[in-house]
Amino acid sequence: MKINDINIMVIEDNDLQRLLVVKMLYTLGVTSILDTDNCKQALEVLRVANVRPVDIAICDLKMPEMDGMEFLRHLGQEQHNISVIIISALDSKLLASVGKMAQAYGIKLLGIIEKPVLLGQLKALISKCESLDSKQRQLIAAVPIFSLEEILLGIRAKQFEPFFQPQVDLKTGQVTSVEALARWIHPERGVINPYAFIPLLEQSDKIDELTFIILEKAASACRVFRDKGYALSVSVNLSIVSLTDTTLADRIIQAVRKTGADPHDITLEIIETAAMTDVAHALENLARLCMEGFSLSIDDYGTEYASIQQLTRIAFSELKIDQSFVKGFSDNKTLRIVVESSIEMAHRLQVKSVAEGVETQRDWDTLKNMGCDMAQGNFISPPMDLQAFIDYMALHNPAP
Ligand code: C2E
Ligand code: CA
Repeated sequence: MKINDINIMVIEDNDLQRLLVVKMLYTLGVTSILDTDNCKQALEVLRVANVRPVDIAICDLKMPEMDGMEFLRHLGQEQHNISVIIISALDSKLLASVGKMAQAYGIKLLGIIEKPVLLGQLKALISKCESLDSKQRQLIAAVPIFSLEEILLGIRAKQFEPFFQPQVDLKTGQVTSVEALARWIHPERGVINPYAFIPLLEQSDKIDELTFIILEKAASACRVFRDKGYALSVSVNLSIVSLTDTTLADRIIQAVRKTGADPHDITLEIIETAAMTDVAHALENLARLCMEGFSLSIDDYGTEYASIQQLTRIAFSELKIDQSFVKGFSDNKTLRIVVESSIEMAHRLQVKSVAEGVETQRDWDTLKNMGCDMAQGNFISPPMDLQAFIDYMALHNPAP
């Protein structure tokens, strides 16, 4: 989608700030802009079917009458096929949870900008929308909404499993690692993706119940791979909220030991986020895990504010470039710059660069030429259950 085809709505009650954003949009080449000072009016416009559909809503959070949170809820419930950029002067921790809430409502959140809005930030987020074609944009959202109770019942009924997505060495074409991604195998609704349950579990401090199920199953799978002759490292996602508890590292070490897997074969992926307030506790956990032999990876690089400065004090061994920057990046000048500089940054830090969301041969080739180390994405394979992954390996990477 080209920038001059994008229809943007700006919702901001402060007249000066709204004008500034509109002006920036014109500077970026956006030609179709609607602006309003209240969310109620915005919703009314969105509900009128004969108006040209709005592609992106840029929305302030703190507004009289209907605030941004309520607006996001209506957007989710009414399933408007629209991407959202949140702008706000609220503190970054609160913004991060609003971001998660938006995702839980099934909203495609392009990103959050802390005021004052800068042209470069706006440009980077809008270019994410440019990289989506109309079909992809229709597929976005439609995440089913579950209550925390339903999710916890599902966990206790052992309905959660890791799915496995291969990661390929771009130089050799070999699968050298695999990411374990949580799936809820719902008895009535089939396979449910993490956006429908992770945010609620994180917000209610229950995420560890899931983390340890996925960790133990992934570590057991790691042993199975080894027994079959595959030297694969397995990556598991760790929520940053879990890191505030200083007993976490020991509990992880014990859980992995119990399965007989070697911590050297396990990478813990941690999302870089502004929401991390308890840096000392997090660093204590990470140092302990590192000493035990676990590898650490910075996940979804580029999507949040740079707490990376704090985190690089710890020996990270890999930086994962978020799929929203990688998908279709070869044909988008801004995204190319983001991806290329992320690869450079990884190499300067002497860590591996991993691009996720690789969907085409062209993106694969461009990444290879840019010197990216590893690729993960549907071009290689979507995530699959353990048996399907074992079959995949037998077919594509037969053991020596
Ligand atoms: P993530 O860690 O960034 O994982 C990559 C996501 O991108 C996965 O979505 C994967 O299925 C998807 N993906 C990979 N390649 C492609 C591609 O080529 N195209 C497209 N369109 N998508 C691709 P998934 O599995 O829905 O996971 C979403 C997020 O949920 C993960 O993002 C991760 O942050 C979180 N998550 C998943 N499992 C766990 C878990 O066990 N614990 C925690 N705390 N978070 C988890
Ligand atoms: Ca991940």
